[in-house]
Amino acid sequence: MKKGKKLYEGKAKIIYACAEKNLVIQHFKDDATAFNNQKKSVIEGKGILNNRISEHILTCLSQAGIKNHLVKRINMREQLIKHVSIIPIEFIVRNIASGSLTKRLGIEEGTVLDNPLIEYCLKNDKLGDPLISKEHILTFKWATKKEIEKIDKQLNRINDFLVGMFRGVGIKLVDFKVEFGRLKNSNDVILADEISPDTCRLWDMNTEKKLDKDRFRNNLGNLIQAYQDVARRLGILHEQSNIRPIKFPKPKAVKLKKNK
Ligand code: UDP
Repeated sequence: MKKGKKLYEGKAKIIYACAEKNLVIQHFKDDATAFNNQKKSVIEGKGILNNRISEHILTCLSQAGIKNHLVKRINMREQLIKHVSIIPIEFIVRNIASGSLTKRLGIEEGTVLDNPLIEYCLKNDKLGDPLISKEHILTFKWATKKEIEKIDKQLNRINDFLVGMFRGVGIKLVDFKVEFGRLKNSNDVILADEISPDTCRLWDMNTEKKLDKDRFRNNLGNLIQAYQDVARRLGILHEQSNIRPIKFPKPKAVKLKKNK
């Protein structure tokens, strides 16, 4: 698949044009950012893992009847996807309190919510992706009432599916962020972007070990190993995987004291 010109570059992905009508290529970078771009790094192999994990999850969602932009993965870092215009809203679904919810409202980290909580944030880096209400969305016409109703229903279905899928492999789905886009020449809104450990909070069921981007946000280390663990549990990555080479950081040299 020949790549055309770059159409858009985000923090973790690039979108390229391609020869196929109404389709584009999504490229996963190794770049990691947090705290509204204040913390940045390159984590070798992250893009490859996210490409595979997101492909797996979106394929499963598709099989469960949840339409999304994925057409097929075309190589280690790229997917062929439907060209959509992204609705400028980050849709967050929470099952357990963590991250910005705990800071904003003083809710204790780890509090299990009685029902999934949907939050909307404006996708605007300059403003720090502020939390917005449905009324803001309608007043400023970021999406229509019909679109939001459809998306809310899909968010609950996506959450139910993902909670079950991760529970089956010993992982708690704490929360996640998704994006939706409008298909060209149609009124349809479909799930787009990615679903990966970059966009979800995933805790090991027994130990509550974090298996997601919080390892980067909170300097916990071993991010690649955690993403590999998720991929392995989902049955994507096998011991003899072709997701190689992933180089691990060299251990720091230790100065040995001279014997007196
Ligand atoms: N999230 C994301 N991209 C963003 C903001 C949040 O993928 O720009 C995900 C994040 O990984 C978590 C969920 O959305 O799984 C809720 O994030 P939260 O609002 O707690 O944000 P944070 O703690 O990252 O500020």
